[in-house]
Amino acid sequence: MTAADGAGDRPQHPTVIAMLGGPGSGKGTQCTMLAQTFGIEHVSIGDLLRLERNSPGSKYGQTIRDNIAAGRLGAKEMTVDILGDHMKRSTAQGTRAFLIDGFPRDKERCEYFEQVMGPISFLVVLECPDDVMMERLTGSDRGRTDDNPENIKRRIEMFKKTTHGVVDIFKDRGRVRFVNSNQDVDSVRLEIEAILEGLVERRSPF
Ligand code: ADP
Ligand code: MG
Repeated sequence: MTAADGAGDRPQHPTVIAMLGGPGSGKGTQCTMLAQTFGIEHVSIGDLLRLERNSPGSKYGQTIRDNIAAGRLGAKEMTVDILGDHMKRSTAQGTRAFLIDGFPRDKERCEYFEQVMGPISFLVVLECPDDVMMERLTGSDRGRTDDNPENIKRRIEMFKKTTHGVVDIFKDRGRVRFVNSNQDVDSVRLEIEAILEGLVERRSPF
């Protein structure tokens, strides 16, 4: 998408859709495809943090390394700072809708993000059994190299402990849907597409 696309009728606040799910539930896989179909930007908070961690001299590099080593979430201020910076830059370049992958992970982060960046329109939650997620992430074609079974188990447990707080916020608003992601990639995609259909326009064919 270029800056010229829809620049004249750009809303002040971009549409923000959040997708949550345990590690290996398929967020990245789905968001990548949906971003293409709907012409919206996929933002992976995990990728942004890893990028920040690996960029020499970054303000937050050491903090992120420490958090990952300790298996804890980053401070909300840092996470929203990094996410917000990225989103503001994209919005200035004409992005009108975001699909945020893996954020907000708990109630506190959700409230803080909305305070700083404006409302999140909708939450999609991918549901997948633990053993299936574990199998996907320890299989031979896994995408991440820092995954070992203990780490994955810890991330699954952390996900379960913190997510209900976010889900409750969107349940109260009637703005959450759950999708069974223990199906083939295309079946999951079709279900999410039907949900997004009412929230964002599909990419223009022109
Ligand atoms: P997440 O971003 O939620 O951690 P990914 O999208 O990175 O999950 O997927 C983790 C692994 O599982 C990848 O190897 C991916 O190819 C695989 N995967 C994703 N969705 C499915 C699915 N519906 N069925 C089987 N494997 C899947
Ligand atoms: Mg991912």
